[in-house]
Amino acid sequence: MIPAAFEYERATSVQQASELLQRFGEDAKVLAGGHSLIPLMRLRLSQPSALVDINPIKELDYITVEGGKLRVGALVRHVQLQNSDTVKQNLPILAEVADEVGDNQVRNLGSIGGVMAHADAAGDYPTLALILDAEIVTNKRRHAAKDFFKDIFTTPLEHDELVCEVVFPIANGPHKYIKFRRRLFDWAIVGAAAQKVDGGWRIGLTNVGPTPVRSTAVEQALASGASPADAAEHASDGLNPSADLRASADYKKHLARVLTRRAIEQASA
Ligand SMILES: Cc1cc2nc3c(=O)[nH]c(=O)nc-3n(C[C@H](O)[C@H](O)[C@H](O)COP(=O)(O)OP(=O)(O)OC[C@H]3O[C@@H](n4cnc5c(N)ncnc54)[C@H](O)[C@@H]3O)c2cc1C
Repeated sequence: MIPAAFEYERATSVQQASELLQRFGEDAKVLAGGHSLIPLMRLRLSQPSALVDINPIKELDYITVEGGKLRVGALVRHVQLQNSDTVKQNLPILAEVADEVGDNQVRNLGSIGGVMAHADAAGDYPTLALILDAEIVTNKRRHAAKDFFKDIFTTPLEHDELVCEVVFPIANGPHKYIKFRRRLFDWAIVGAAAQKVDGGWRIGLTNVGPTPVRSTAVEQALASGASPADAAEHASDGLNPSADLRASADYKKHLARVLTRRAIEQASA
């Protein structure tokens, strides 16, 4: 399919991108890696009147550590997260998650800012952002991850709001992210994250609802001394996943329990 006609401008700074988004108005879209937006445009499920290409903006491409936080510019690609020594030393689960995203083509172009803004229920980074209390920083304000993923493909971003960086607390203790999928490069049917922070576990799930889920019942059970197997039984508490072609709702709940147990056990090994 061929996308509908659109205007196109390249921005070389955040300031210029903000101005272009304001000028083009509500129907304009930011273009980052294009790995989610372009397929939607080709199917004409998205028909932006204009694209503001942010790929030339060098100031959005960095990975730094500052004041106990890992700061990742919005245009950092999956492959950079996968291979970065700074990420591996300060938040190794982020490199592990990047390693699980799509295939080489997707990892070479797709950006962390794009995943956050797109807010696909099967996106992998949003789960990590949620359980670690990360922040999504834009040209206008800072969003706590818990307030950012409102619904499937829905965030509080305004039409002229640009994701500029994602700020994660440093966490380099025991961790594991596991995805269950039918083929190597598929999106997660269900994913589970386990990360130890200050002696306690943070547990999260991907694609068991419209937004990422933090499994506080599992966290509380672990804090009360339950074994990983017993605690993981709570992973499906309160979940209401929708059935799709790949899995029934019950199977997704089963996966949530099994993957959570495996993530905790493998992180602890
Ligand atoms: C075959 C395939 C497999 C994939 N598998 C996975 C997977 O396993 N896990 C996973 O998490 N993802 C997966 N993806 C998605 C991939 O990670 C995309 O890169 C990502 O969803 C979007 O990032 P992007 O940079 O390509 O954004 P784009 O496609 O350019 O944009 C996506 C949306 O976000 C908006 N946007 C982009 N950047 C910004 C910004 N800085 N500020 C504001 N809005 C912005 C755009 O306007 C658009 O609405 C897959 C994609 C494909 C094609």
